[in-house]
Amino acid sequence: MRRFPCPNCPGSLFFDNHRCVACGTEVAYEPHRDSFVTTLEATPCASRLGPGACNWVAITEGTDAESTVTKGRVCANCRLDLVPDLSPLVEPFQAARRRTLRQLFALGLDPAPLQPPLRFQLLESTADEAVTTGHADGVITLDVAEGDPVRLAEIRSRLGEQYRTPIGHVRHELGHWYWQALVDAHYSLLGQAGLDDFRSVFGDERLDYAAALEAHYASVDDGSWQSSYISHYASAHPWEDFAETFAHYLHITDTLETAQSFPLVGLYGTGGLATLDFDELYRQWLELTTVLNELTRSMGVPDAYPFAPSPPAVDKIGWLHRRLTAS
Ligand SMILES: [Zn+2]
Ligand SMILES: [Zn+2]
Ligand SMILES: [Zn+2]
Repeated sequence: MRRFPCPNCPGSLFFDNHRCVACGTEVAYEPHRDSFVTTLEATPCASRLGPGACNWVAITEGTDAESTVTKGRVCANCRLDLVPDLSPLVEPFQAARRRTLRQLFALGLDPAPLQPPLRFQLLESTADEAVTTGHADGVITLDVAEGDPVRLAEIRSRLGEQYRTPIGHVRHELGHWYWQALVDAHYSLLGQAGLDDFRSVFGDERLDYAAALEAHYASVDDGSWQSSYISHYASAHPWEDFAETFAHYLHITDTLETAQSFPLVGLYGTGGLATLDFDELYRQWLELTTVLNELTRSMGVPDAYPFAPSPPAVDKIGWLHRRLTAS
């Protein structure tokens, strides 16, 4: 993520800012122009003061701009909500979704025209009722209870997942939705050739999903997944492999953009990530993550990038990069 110029002064804004710290102007992010405007120039999203702390501008045209959930004109992010934001724990999830949507717009993957329609339910597990994170036919359900750092640390430790974050969940579940929208035969934008190509890289997704997950949870992690998968969970089923790979690709491209814009390392020229050959992009990624982990070790905190993908897992990310940047 880069920084943005303030529309009112020479200062810079961070992506989540509601106001410029230099001049005090109230600002809002305009996703289709990838820039900030003052709130006098455009109507802010109706969720601006809600627990999701939205800082985007409202959509002014189209029937779904008027949200029945928030009772007002909302932005391209908040119109995806099926349920109102009630808990303060939604904030890291809404922030993660705004950040990820911006990446998808940049890749030419605006969800709005794709089928099945994309919607989210941000729900919170309680002692009586557990919320199951997942995707089903366009609807992504996330458990915002994981927005509580203590709870998240407990789950991380119990499941042995070093990297478990709200943004990881958002990117992973969007991977499932994109698979359905872009690859699956019912909704395919890529056609049979795209599906065959997917199977040659990730395997045959017609494998019984429920049985595969059951077998995954019953098995002991012996580390053998490391030879071909980005994570243990990716080895459960081709759909999970794709979703994990999709999420990882978005982690890489967001972090590389950040590094370039500050600039932390001498990176990829001015043409943007889509113009880079994958081998070059990945070489820069390795260089960057080495620095990143050494920086966090210097501060005595866990590695920011606790992964060491094997060549076959990297090849799958390369496949996705070529697919997403081909058009
Ligand atoms: Zn300013
Ligand atoms: Zn909004
Ligand atoms: Zn999944």
